[in-house]
Amino acid sequence: MVQTTASRIQEIFKKQQSFQWTVRQTNAATRKDKLARLAKAISENMQEIIAATIQDVQKPSYEVFNEVGQVLGAIQHIGNHLEQWLQPQEVPAANPLAKAFMVYEPKGVVCIIGAWNFPFTLLFHPLVDAIAAGNCAIIKPSEYTPTIGALAERILRSIFNEEEIAVVQGGAATAGTLLELPFNHIFFTGSSRVGKIVMRAAANHLASVTLELGGKTPVIVDRGVDLTRTALRLAWGKMMNSGQTCIAPDYLYLHTDDVEAFAEAFSFWITASYRDENGQLLSEDRTQIINRIHYDRVRSLYTDAIEKGATVLSGGEFDDINLLVEPTLLINVTPEMKIMQEEIFAPLLPIMTYTNVQEPIIYVRSQEKPLALYIFSEDEKFVQETISSIPSGGVCVNDIMMHNTEPNLPFGGVNHSGIGSYHGIHGFKEFSHTRAVLKAAANPYEEFMMPPYKGKLEMFLQNNDQ
Ligand code: NAD
Repeated sequence: MVQTTASRIQEIFKKQQSFQWTVRQTNAATRKDKLARLAKAISENMQEIIAATIQDVQKPSYEVFNEVGQVLGAIQHIGNHLEQWLQPQEVPAANPLAKAFMVYEPKGVVCIIGAWNFPFTLLFHPLVDAIAAGNCAIIKPSEYTPTIGALAERILRSIFNEEEIAVVQGGAATAGTLLELPFNHIFFTGSSRVGKIVMRAAANHLASVTLELGGKTPVIVDRGVDLTRTALRLAWGKMMNSGQTCIAPDYLYLHTDDVEAFAEAFSFWITASYRDENGQLLSEDRTQIINRIHYDRVRSLYTDAIEKGATVLSGGEFDDINLLVEPTLLINVTPEMKIMQEEIFAPLLPIMTYTNVQEPIIYVRSQEKPLALYIFSEDEKFVQETISSIPSGGVCVNDIMMHNTEPNLPFGGVNHSGIGSYHGIHGFKEFSHTRAVLKAAANPYEEFMMPPYKGKLEMFLQNNDQ
């Protein structure tokens, strides 16, 4: 594994600490120009990005293309709004003669640490928000995606000097070296376990953090919904990237009476998407489980569930050579099974059943707050009851994952699933300090505020009593 040395990291950081004062002064036009050049470089390297991602994580090129498109869309959105975001925002002042503003100033030098599952987007999407806000940045890709890491370095070097934007390579040790440095902000995407390590390290320098973490995302399906469409959306959400998505549906709550119809519809979509006319399971549109360690972990979740009484409703085929898992529905699942105790991150979908909506509400609330909550219902009362009863980072009603694609919505978790958010103006603000600026004016009480205080408090208290 290529690993940037500690001394090189310290050297880059020092350069960025000096250069931040220049970047800080840049206006919207300059930042937009940088982002436009980045967008051009990304578009020109689209084939290489797709090839590098496939090399690292073996996923369908169509899915990589969509992933990269999210970054290009984010740059376009920033381009349409940055002038406005950089304007001082005037707010009412208590003294009518004074003027009060909120100004978004860059945090300074920021660190961005990425995860492997969307190796391009998880680096570049926060990076474009950091650039929009006027920061210098050091980014570290996951050690699982070295080809994307090297390509990211090449693309960014063609536009930026390392005193402004730099890529460092390596795993936990490299991240550890980075986290010793007094960054002004740390943006981390990854597991809740490592998120805690990052937050502890940030505390040493009182750096602010954005933690984009994971967890178990529940789906609650009401009675009376179109089960064919619901199954289609769930099959898509579970199959895309083979369920290795932070906001993939993790487990499903279905009304007891709907299990059979749902399983039939889910199985139909999986067959239509992944089997040929002879019923053979195809591999070309499926993403492999990232590596043998994770593949074995997924198999053990499955085996544990079966050993403890779960039943396969559809799927269940494992390809040990190509690390592929067939999208699989499991029923008779209980909270004691390992599959209900950790983020699955694979195309296994356990079904829990209910007869009264209070059952999923009580269960989900007893778990860590999820990154997303999915509700399928045509009944506004059901939707409101579940949304107001269960906290989560975001909610999507009658769909899966699409809240992530709305540029005006913040994307992030809550407590165990994350701290802070990004995308659009929310990302710009996350990488900015909201500074209070008051342009004061003389007021008639200035002399009265000076000592001696004798008699002044009494006067106020007396006035209050009247
Ligand atoms: P991970 O936590 O293992 O690794 C993430 C990053 O942390 C990598 O760059 C890695 O090198 C670094 N790292 C590993 N050990 C470290 C340590 N001890 N100290 C400092 N840094 C360390 O996560 P992963 O396996 O790459 O990603 C999967 C997880 O990420 C899942 O939980 C998923 O839900 C979550 N995720 C969240 C989002 C989101 O936007 N909320 C997006 C993608 C993935």
